[in-house]
Amino acid sequence: MRCAVIGGGLLGLQLARKLLAKGHQVHIFEASPFVGGLSAPRDYGSFVHDRFYHVILPQDLETLALIDELGLSDRLRWSKARTGYSYNKRIHPMNGILDYLFFPALGFFQKLRLGLGLRKVRGIQDPGALYDQSAKDWLTELFGPQIYQRFWAPLLRAKFGAYADKVAAVFLHATMQRLLAARSGLAEKDSFGHLQGGYAILFRALTQDLESKGASIHLSTPIQAIQEDPSPGCNLTSHGPLGLQTQTFDQVYFTGPTETALSLAQGKARLHAQETLNAHPSGGTYLGVLCAHLVLKKSLSPYYILNLDEPDVDLTGVIEFSNLCDREAELAGNHLVFLPRYLPSDDPSFAKSDDELLPGFLTQAQKLFPSLQDKDIVSMGLERAPRVQPLPIAGNPPTQDELPKGSFRRPFQILNTSLLACATLNNNEVLGLCKKSAALFPSP
Ligand SMILES: Cc1cc2nc3c(=O)[nH]c(=O)nc-3n(C[C@H](O)[C@H](O)[C@H](O)COP(=O)(O)OP(=O)(O)OC[C@H]3O[C@@H](n4cnc5c(N)ncnc54)[C@H](O)[C@@H]3O)c2cc1C
Repeated sequence: MRCAVIGGGLLGLQLARKLLAKGHQVHIFEASPFVGGLSAPRDYGSFVHDRFYHVILPQDLETLALIDELGLSDRLRWSKARTGYSYNKRIHPMNGILDYLFFPALGFFQKLRLGLGLRKVRGIQDPGALYDQSAKDWLTELFGPQIYQRFWAPLLRAKFGAYADKVAAVFLHATMQRLLAARSGLAEKDSFGHLQGGYAILFRALTQDLESKGASIHLSTPIQAIQEDPSPGCNLTSHGPLGLQTQTFDQVYFTGPTETALSLAQGKARLHAQETLNAHPSGGTYLGVLCAHLVLKKSLSPYYILNLDEPDVDLTGVIEFSNLCDREAELAGNHLVFLPRYLPSDDPSFAKSDDELLPGFLTQAQKLFPSLQDKDIVSMGLERAPRVQPLPIAGNPPTQDELPKGSFRRPFQILNTSLLACATLNNNEVLGLCKKSAALFPSP
């Protein structure tokens, strides 16, 4: 069959590999001039690395398997990832029982209750049931109102902003499970992995693999219309380097946001997009991210992640990626710090220019690190992605399973991260979704 995949992020490229393995012909359409989507690389001047920070956790077995399949295991690096917590403008380590016991924001009994609550979280068997409750109510119930206010509320505000009171408990549970699993360690405790050189090397290998197997990758070619009538088949109108073109495919897989599909699709395809949105409503509420980066001559802290409980600092956290990697080999000797700010996808800040936004990010960083001066900065820049995380909202659960039963029979199919019901957004989940989807591809 002649298949099209819309979107050249990890999901689209891996789906394409699975379709090829089944014997289908594959065309991939990517709107940007490069593949990789949210995991794509960026040129920082003296080095190239991921546009956003990415780590691989020891339990990310799908990601590790793909790295191995592509012959990149020798580029995998594991490092101890230290976590800090900034409270009252003092940074406290949060890496083990002793740090926890000395953490000043909570009293002894509160710490005990926090520890017991976290044990309960590990034991939850049916996370789907947490769709009906807000994270706020769930955490208050588990840990009590004082610990909620003191410890969890600032973290929820920093991560979810306007959605802090609405986000479903299922999402927070998934985030906690992911981090707790990394800490209990299937591999080395608290080890975070990354590819030396970033995801760029994985996308290079994926592209070579796809092209060697006959896939066509059309870059700078956004799909502008999806038309399922008259069936069978699906017409795609693209606007690429060759101008406007309409082609017919037997099957089309769309990996971008469902609302984008809804805006492009007509006829039966539009109906399917609307049904997908109704069945997986997290696709209607996205968190986006504005993420500044600082290339620095000096380190800001020894922590990879710095969580923030600082009401006057408008950042989700501070990620010092250079604390995980070999700076000489990967960052031309520099330090690389990310300053993410998660926002609702319709926040007006997304329309502002880098020049308007960057000074604000620097001011926030200087509130945390007053010794940071202009002379320490080699360069700074900004990445923006208004649609990153489909957000489950309490009381609005999915009404269908992740994937249909049987096989993908219809010519137009939406396969994106909004289908991941009880998971956080990460590449391991994306690859897991591809694997499950492959079992549903029809025979050629
Ligand atoms: C700040 C940040 C930190 C992260 N950290 C981690 C981490 O530590 N570990 C981890 O595993 N994951 C992490 N992730 C998540 C990871 O980046 C995602 O899991 C992954 O990129 C999702 O891939 P995707 O293909 O589903 O979507 P995307 O990467 O969003 O790709 C979708 C693609 O579709 C294209 N597209 C959309 N519409 C059209 C159209 N009409 N025509 C053609 N093309 C179109 C887009 O241009 C895009 O390239 C992080 C993400 C962010 C933003």
